[in-house]
Amino acid sequence: MAQGTRIVIVGGVAAGMSAASQARRRKPDATVTVFERGPYISYGSCGMPYNIEDPERSIDDLVVLTPEKARESRGIDLHLRHEVTAIDPGSRTVTVRDLEAGSERTEGWDALVIATGASAVRLPLPGFDLPGVTVLRELTDGALVKRLLAEGRKAAAIVGGGYIGMEMAHVLTSRGLRVTVLEKLPDILPGWGPETVALVRKELERNGVDVRTGVSVTGAEAGPDGSVAAVTTDAGPVEADLVLQAVGARPNVRLAAEAGLRIGDTGAIWVNQYQQTSADGIWAAGDCAEAYHRVLRRNAWIPLGTTANKQGRIAGANVVGAAQRFAGIVGTSGFKVFDLEVARSGLGFDQAKAEGFEPVAVTITQRSRAHGYPGGSPIQVTLVADEPTGVLLGGELAGRDGAALRANVLGTALAAHMTVSDLQGLDLVYAPPFAPVWDPVLVAANQLAKKVGRR
Ligand SMILES: Cc1cc2nc3c(=O)[nH]c(=O)nc-3n(C[C@H](O)[C@H](O)[C@H](O)COP(=O)(O)OP(=O)(O)OC[C@H]3O[C@@H](n4cnc5c(N)ncnc54)[C@H](O)[C@@H]3O)c2cc1C
Repeated sequence: MAQGTRIVIVGGVAAGMSAASQARRRKPDATVTVFERGPYISYGSCGMPYNIEDPERSIDDLVVLTPEKARESRGIDLHLRHEVTAIDPGSRTVTVRDLEAGSERTEGWDALVIATGASAVRLPLPGFDLPGVTVLRELTDGALVKRLLAEGRKAAAIVGGGYIGMEMAHVLTSRGLRVTVLEKLPDILPGWGPETVALVRKELERNGVDVRTGVSVTGAEAGPDGSVAAVTTDAGPVEADLVLQAVGARPNVRLAAEAGLRIGDTGAIWVNQYQQTSADGIWAAGDCAEAYHRVLRRNAWIPLGTTANKQGRIAGANVVGAAQRFAGIVGTSGFKVFDLEVARSGLGFDQAKAEGFEPVAVTITQRSRAHGYPGGSPIQVTLVADEPTGVLLGGELAGRDGAALRANVLGTALAAHMTVSDLQGLDLVYAPPFAPVWDPVLVAANQLAKKVGRR
């Protein structure tokens, strides 16, 4: 690649800044320009719930790299509050709007990385534009929630029972609010197994969270001060002076779609494992893009920070001439709700069935530490495998001690396409402070082995 290469990156959070840093490190004479429409770069959204839990911590603590450091020590040409409004793959230009000045200009590029992320879904319901109704996606949303809490909000309604809703139910309860979770589906945590869901629900209720499922939210109503005072539902009103919409996210693909780039079946930007899009000279990474799923053996959209960082790094290397390949995902994720650690990897039973496998599953409970060693507690493990082949398809764990990181064993096994028999044979840590002689994962594998490959 020629000297003086111009690399433009759209979006400056996990994927965008990983790409920018990597490109500059590998090719210090390239001009790496990042356009970010927001006021922040490079922050950890994943830490927002835990930051909100602590009134003493500034939301700015979540910023990993300041704009000054990005410019001065990394040499990145960074433009905050600049929105890219169009990409022209033919002339290799982007149109950029300076949101402060209100002006627009055109910038050329030799290589372009789209890292526009995803946006929280906002329900188009009456009253959902009232003060006190918010989403939690960008750092500015986190700052708003902190401000609302500092004002002394007392009752929160969380619309949506996914993992962000669970984390925030815990956080808002610990900040002293009465919390109601409202989920339209028959249960919380769509896509998770019923055994895990039951434990999470019990943990929420044990801590005073009012969990209402099968309830459709229809709008929000203001109190005398003009701020939200209640949400309305098909099962009656729920008092709430803070309403958090946590009903999922959508990939930001408008720019890519308007530029004629291929959008995958998932609705995110199609990429190959080198993070290349369907257009020459354009790469994409992070929540706006698909990722190759190693169990499904096709692209999927599971928007997570871990993937965004890896894909961004690879895109940044490849725009300056490397040929790095993203190994793919297996769908490993986790969260904490009160004292319960919850994590999973791979496919759940229902998803496995929908994907055409012939799944079988087991759920077992085993203590986290050796018999008689203090501090242990039960870990529930669910494992799913394909019955005819015995190949492991996924698993979930929930428990108060050492549950979440055991999902990494499953993630590794899935990446290697292990069978249940392979899993049974794994040499895992046994030491009384950390695990019993039969680790909970191995106990589950032993049980599942009885159900696979019987034909
Ligand atoms: C509350 C919460 C908790 C989470 N917890 C976890 C967790 O525990 N583990 C985990 O792995 N993941 C977690 N995630 C997900 C993780 O934060 C995201 O996957 C990650 O932020 C994606 O990074 P990204 O750079 O792809 O996209 P984003 O973070 O969405 O950043 C994209 C940026 O692009 C900018 N942009 C978009 N369009 C334009 C444009 N046209 N011009 C200029 N700029 C543009 C946006 O303003 C945005 O700043 C969590 C997310 C949230 C909200």
